[in-house]
Amino acid sequence: MKYVLLDRDGTIIQDPLDERVDRIEKIELFPDSIEALKYLADNDFGVVLITNQAGIGEGRITEEEFWAIHSEVLNQLSPSGVNFVKTYMNGEASGPNATEWRKPGPKMLLQAAEDLSINLKDVFMVGDNQSDIDAGINAGCKGSILVETARNKKVTSPNAIYTAPNLLDAAHYIISNSWCGSY
Ligand SMILES: [Mg+2]
Repeated sequence: MKYVLLDRDGTIIQDPLDERVDRIEKIELFPDSIEALKYLADNDFGVVLITNQAGIGEGRITEEEFWAIHSEVLNQLSPSGVNFVKTYMNGEASGPNATEWRKPGPKMLLQAAEDLSINLKDVFMVGDNQSDIDAGINAGCKGSILVETARNKKVTSPNAIYTAPNLLDAAHYIISNSWCGSY
């Protein structure tokens, strides 16, 4: 199996207007998310989620609420046969006290690499924020791909290897730019 590392909020599901995925009713998949994730799965890519959830550290949701919301995201994807290999979540507040476990720190990605025997130099990281791009670079990934699907801002990234208008386009890039032998 090949792997890809994906951010969740703003990448697979819409960031709500207030940028807080803190209730099940606020889950909204992007129109092309299922197609993109199926396309990756059909090409033998396992998706690993790497998500910052500052709302936990900042007291807006509990960790239990996060996992309940996340289960609902999985429920919405499962009828299409889409699943994730594993989800890594960091609940630290943003700011100077955040550790290297919070993106752009590399530790969640490095932990995934260790747990799943992933060679990060063969793997892309995909996200809608500069912190995703930097996390991929800090972890030594093959490259970081920016998806231009952040809700309230126009993000551009000087060090993204590729900028995609949406996740489906990113999936096409990943498949055409990955070595297709077996690892
Ligand atoms: Mg995001």
